[in-house]
Amino acid sequence: MNMNVLVFNCGSSSIKYKLYSMPEGRELASGSVEKVGETGSRAKQKSAAGEIVFEEAVPDHSAGLAVIRRMLTDSSKGAIRDVAEIHACGHRVVHGGDQYSDSVLIDGSVLDGIRECNDLAPLHNPPNLTGIRAAMELKEGMPQVACFDTAFHQTLPEKAYLYALPYELYEKYKVRRYGFHGTSHRYVAAKAAETLGVATAQVNLITCHLGNGCSMAAIHAGHCVDTSMGLTPLEGLVMGTRCGDIDPAILFYLGRKGYSVDDLDTMLNRKSGLLGISGISNDNRSLCEQAAAGDRRASLALDIFAYRIRKYIGSYLAVLNGCHAIVMTGGIGENSSETRETILSNLDSLGVHFDAERNRALGRVAGEISTANSPVKILVVPTDEEVAIARDTYRIVSTGA
Ligand code: AMP
Repeated sequence: MNMNVLVFNCGSSSIKYKLYSMPEGRELASGSVEKVGETGSRAKQKSAAGEIVFEEAVPDHSAGLAVIRRMLTDSSKGAIRDVAEIHACGHRVVHGGDQYSDSVLIDGSVLDGIRECNDLAPLHNPPNLTGIRAAMELKEGMPQVACFDTAFHQTLPEKAYLYALPYELYEKYKVRRYGFHGTSHRYVAAKAAETLGVATAQVNLITCHLGNGCSMAAIHAGHCVDTSMGLTPLEGLVMGTRCGDIDPAILFYLGRKGYSVDDLDTMLNRKSGLLGISGISNDNRSLCEQAAAGDRRASLALDIFAYRIRKYIGSYLAVLNGCHAIVMTGGIGENSSETRETILSNLDSLGVHFDAERNRALGRVAGEISTANSPVKILVVPTDEEVAIARDTYRIVSTGA
């Protein structure tokens, strides 16, 4: 069955989308509407027919969807003639709590389920819901599918997802590790298994999604058994502006110095990580340039970033007790050979033999960057969360499963 699937990633002030022809996963159009509900809204789209840019007021997500409809069906540079040619929508939803271990067809109870997770992801789930509602207005009765960032991590065992806090916090408030970037970890794990020639259900991997947000997953027999992000995407690795793991007592200490809960929230989520340490930028590429030019704090930020990842690699090798490959993905993992070298050199005693020459020569494509005889392979696998969402949507709408 052929189907055109429209994939959405809705933030509070932006809508990103891609239209695919399924089942082959061919991209027909991609675009975005930025600054929804703000001044200076801008919409753009690329397709084989050309590029479109609109600069006009977009007061809310419904208006954003109306602009997207116009761009997709534009008579000269659009990708389709009519919205009737879109058969289903797939939506990135950040938090599915412990209710969803796979993508699902959206109905009233799923909308309620997503709303119930609003407290756990106040910045993400409400705009995801707004986007779903707006997409429902595109064409009456069009199937809508939700793909949760948390779903892949629902196989974590209790010992990995429970915090050592009073148990009633888990029972009363669902305080536990959920993990995020699940669609990306699942996608690159399947690609890596294919590359290695190992069945997905038998593969053991450590997947590293390193972008502006960073997370790692330990995958045993195709199932996620641990991941670095927690109740929220703040825990774990050092990120562009997020601190990752810190001693929680730092918060009490700073609270007593006069910082409010909101101050601390902003500090840990938006002013920490690479930006906080370097005082220059949250961007890996700029920091590599600054470090090369002799900036000490840029070097320090990159060192701390890589050191944290190395610690997680060590701990996940212990968790898995046998690992086929370490997989690097995300903007940094896919592109920065320099950062990959800092992370992966000198892990030989753990069976991870990094090949510096292969790494440098790889450039920006997929491939292997370990030595030919390395017991644990190292693979670079570009992620594609949108196509993964399109595939889930196609599977669920065409087969009902
Ligand atoms: P993402 O959030 O996956 O788009 O990744 C963004 C991060 O990838 C930023 O820190 C960028 O600096 C980094 N990045 C993207 N391209 C490159 C590159 N060619 N070299 C180094 N870092 C890169």
